[in-house]
Amino acid sequence: MTLVNLLDFDLAGLQAEFEQLGEKPFRATQVFRWIHQRGQTDFNQMSDLARTLRERLFEVAEVRGLPALSERESSDGTVKWLFDVGAGNAIETVFIPEDDRGTLCVSSQAGCAVGCPFCSTGHQGFSRNLTTAEIVAQLHYAEHRLRQLLKLPQGTRAITNVVMMGMGEPLQNYSAVLPALRVMLDDHAYGLSRRRVTVSTSGVVPMIDRLGSDLPVALAVSLHAPDDTLRDELVPLNRKYPLRELLAACHRYLASAPRDFVTFEYCMLDGVNDSDAHARALVDLVMTGADGHPLSCKFNLIPFNPFPASGLIRSPRERVLAFARALQDAGLVATIRKTRGDDIDAACGQLAGEVQDRTHVVSRRRAIPIVAAAQTLAVSQAGGIP
Ligand code: SAH
Ligand code: SF4
Repeated sequence: MTLVNLLDFDLAGLQAEFEQLGEKPFRATQVFRWIHQRGQTDFNQMSDLARTLRERLFEVAEVRGLPALSERESSDGTVKWLFDVGAGNAIETVFIPEDDRGTLCVSSQAGCAVGCPFCSTGHQGFSRNLTTAEIVAQLHYAEHRLRQLLKLPQGTRAITNVVMMGMGEPLQNYSAVLPALRVMLDDHAYGLSRRRVTVSTSGVVPMIDRLGSDLPVALAVSLHAPDDTLRDELVPLNRKYPLRELLAACHRYLASAPRDFVTFEYCMLDGVNDSDAHARALVDLVMTGADGHPLSCKFNLIPFNPFPASGLIRSPRERVLAFARALQDAGLVATIRKTRGDDIDAACGQLAGEVQDRTHVVSRRRAIPIVAAAQTLAVSQAGGIP
């Protein structure tokens, strides 16, 4: 008999499972807290459960995380894990510590079907959707591993923010992503506020609306181009949901969003989308994007992380600065994303080569023994992650 993986459920789902076992909802809450708050995966260690319930759980259920293939830590404290999701597929999860937060970048699919030419996940093609359990397992593993590595006092959280900006298009895997988001937000689990959980999308318009009504969290939209002709090339999904429809969806989303702006990600590609004319077109687009009205937004300019198969080049630093200034001079908020974890290839879209060619991964990777990683982390995070 296949065991039910309890990482697959949000609290309501787990309560429904327990009901089928003839157990009260509060028992599900207890187990949910053990799993997510305490990181416990062994029913025998869940000391406040009746022995009969523990025995029953052993018969029908398990808490099955993802096997970590590697753990690598950057000199700047960024940690990247590679998880095995079977059939030769691996996914990445990245932790980015900052002074006032600890952000986990989570994957939603093995590969991606959208096929953006500047993204190595896109080049890899689509393998499959991750399950809710596989999405939640990334957070479960990272949170409890980091508490250990950073020697955090009981009850202190390592991860304060989650961004769905790893591999895959989260809004093309909505039915698995939604319960996973609920687990992230649940006070009996990770207790993150809706402002601190961000879904990043290439623009799946109907699903932006669904998210807005089901569970409005912070929204980031990968824009990358100011007009449909260029965006059709850079984000092929634009052919289905062109800019006018996308911006209208962003406008509708703001009615329920936890933040009063949408973040637009814009990957800076040398000679492709980074001229002053592109910046001016972008200003025009967002100033009139919401049915002739300005759309409340912030720009996050991402220096392109090059990989050979893309044939693309990162915009020079001065160009990125000039582009940011052009947006700012027009009254828009524009920041430039710091590149983090460069020495471990932890930046966006850097993993696909390794995933495609797993047989050579070990020889190419600077593997860090887990103990050494713990020491480096403890030193680099002496102040602790709030
Ligand atoms: N599929 C979703 C979320 C995952 S990609 C989306 O596209 O939004 C997360 C972010 O990384 C997106 O903004 C994406 O455009 C960006 N990205 C992907 N490959 C990149 C690269 N090589 N360099 C810089 N940014 C990249
Ligand atoms: Fe998919 Fe996002 Fe990469 Fe585009 S940028 S291919 S949508 S993961």
